[in-house]
Amino acid sequence: MIKSVCGYCGVGCGIEFEESKLIGDLSYPINEGLVCAKGVSELHSIQTPTRLLRPKIRTSIEEEYKESSWEDAISLIATKIKATTPNRIAFYLSGQLMSEDYYIANKLAKGFIGTPNVDTNSRTCMASAVVAYKKIFGIDYVPVRMEDVESANLLIVAGANPAEAHVVFWNKVKKLKKNGLKVVVIDPRYTESAKNADLYLPIKPNSDIDFFNLVAMRLILDNQIDEEFLYKHCNDFDSYKKELLKLPKTKLLKRTGLTKEQFEEFIKMFYENQNTISAWTMGLNQSSQGVEKNIALINLHLLSGKMSKKGNGPFSLTGQPNAMGGREVGGLATMLAVHLDYNEENIAKVNQFWKTSKVPKGNGFTAVEIFHEALKGNIDCLIICHTDPIYHLPNRHKMEKAIQKIPFVVEINAYNNSETSQFAHLKLPATPWGEKEGTQTNMDRTITKQEILTRKSIDCKDDWMVFKLLADALGYGGKFAYEKPEDIFKEYQEMCKLSHDGHLDIYKTSYQELTKKPFVWGEGLFDTNEFFTPNKKANLFCVSNKTLSEKPNKIYPFVLLTGRTRDQWHSGTKTGFVENLKKFKPENFVEIHPLDGVEFGIKDGSRVWIQSPRGQIESYAKYNEGIMRKTVFIPITNKKINYLTDDLLDLSSKEPDYNHSVVRIVSYFQ
Ligand code: SF4
Repeated sequence: MIKSVCGYCGVGCGIEFEESKLIGDLSYPINEGLVCAKGVSELHSIQTPTRLLRPKIRTSIEEEYKESSWEDAISLIATKIKATTPNRIAFYLSGQLMSEDYYIANKLAKGFIGTPNVDTNSRTCMASAVVAYKKIFGIDYVPVRMEDVESANLLIVAGANPAEAHVVFWNKVKKLKKNGLKVVVIDPRYTESAKNADLYLPIKPNSDIDFFNLVAMRLILDNQIDEEFLYKHCNDFDSYKKELLKLPKTKLLKRTGLTKEQFEEFIKMFYENQNTISAWTMGLNQSSQGVEKNIALINLHLLSGKMSKKGNGPFSLTGQPNAMGGREVGGLATMLAVHLDYNEENIAKVNQFWKTSKVPKGNGFTAVEIFHEALKGNIDCLIICHTDPIYHLPNRHKMEKAIQKIPFVVEINAYNNSETSQFAHLKLPATPWGEKEGTQTNMDRTITKQEILTRKSIDCKDDWMVFKLLADALGYGGKFAYEKPEDIFKEYQEMCKLSHDGHLDIYKTSYQELTKKPFVWGEGLFDTNEFFTPNKKANLFCVSNKTLSEKPNKIYPFVLLTGRTRDQWHSGTKTGFVENLKKFKPENFVEIHPLDGVEFGIKDGSRVWIQSPRGQIESYAKYNEGIMRKTVFIPITNKKINYLTDDLLDLSSKEPDYNHSVVRIVSYFQ
């Protein structure tokens, strides 16, 4: 029997593998034997007919791919890299990578090729939470663990649908509800999670800041704040209060679309329940004001002192299995490595650690920015690893134009059927989950080792090995003399000692230890209410709703909401081919309120066009009384969804405004 971990979502369930079968690991603290349909069928994803099994090459995207040897493929990448300058090279990584893969890619790109343009698809899901945590607490640290919900009296879920996106975590929540846990769900759509809520607040899209600010005002006016905590452990309370109380209360409530009664019901629950955790995902993060939405919510914890105590705190949920590992290692273009920001001192430290002098001077282009730069002709070589930007980046027509301006695009992937592969010049077959090993960090800082469960497909290589071969071909081999992932992990552990006050204490475990049990980094970092800002106090910022997103109008009267469905994963590259998952849910639908259906002449089940200022896609209307009027919902498993979405970014997190694009629906037969 081999113990490993599920490679789908940020919950990171422990699993056991025996005689070609997967079951949940009863002894694993997070899931205690439970797994969802995706997790239990993950073995089948290794054997889909869509696996990429040989390197494939072509000189232009009009040509058919031809098989290539690994030697020729790696040598070609090295030649293309040498032929250009570092700032015209970009790496686009993924939360599906192991931390060791991430580490070596980041070291090669930033430390030796010298390009800062290393970003990850995690940018598109939780960069806003990273920036908010850093602004408030001084470091990127999630101060809540899943088990903390056991000590909470109230769970506030805002802009998230964990019942479908974090299934096993939600099962825990449902169990705890039987012991008295109260749940509030705040969402424009009556989601599966909302069905389990004690209070559901159907908030209007993009009014989250207004809602949280209203709650903050009430806490102050009702004297329900924790003054001792605020004056001892927070900066700028007086100026925050002054600014906040100037905001127009009635207008804020109107913008949320909530009634006074609904708001009062929430306040009552907030006051009556002592221990409170808030949890959120894309509904807050994927926004032109994603960072400020996070800040407005976290402010409620600071004001009420519902922080740093068991059962309290702000819990940003991550979607991918190793989104957190990417953050830790330095897979974001806005940081260097091991949570270090770009500044002179950190650059010197990292140069010294990697024994190089090529570490760039500042931030690189982030996910969407890489493509915006490509559109201007500023990118010569793009290396994409385990992710599908043409499917998942917003404003797809623009992204397709951009990628076609890049002379050399490499795709490293375990699967052959990504949307991006239509635009690549070279495809390298990587090992998927089950054929490789390494470590991953789930959404509550738990590091678990993924194990090899089946034989490696003959011509596939682990991602770390691909980057090592590339480093060799570029002449940096001496600094990349790793023989196995464990060697990389050990170096990464040493590097973690450079993190701010050594808070990334991954050096306290070992690769061998991780084969036996998981390790949680940074336990109790905020227990004494000393944070990682210069004066060790948390920062309070007053933020306001600037209504920057597209606004519905006569031509495009709907706001498009996007999200996951329970049994599919992203575009379905893996899950779409697994028999027992395929049957669960139809992928192509657009939810619309029946009254909007009547108003716009759209019948339930009818074929429709959904059109935005950027493009159109075809789908089937599905009536749902639980969706707010003048909003529609399309699941992200619809591979074409991003022909509709807007590529407006949050100014500081550079996360796209996915959830606020305007659309219209017209009957297919009009
Ligand atoms: Fe895997 Fe997430 Fe399901 Fe757990 S909840 S089995 S980690 S997909």
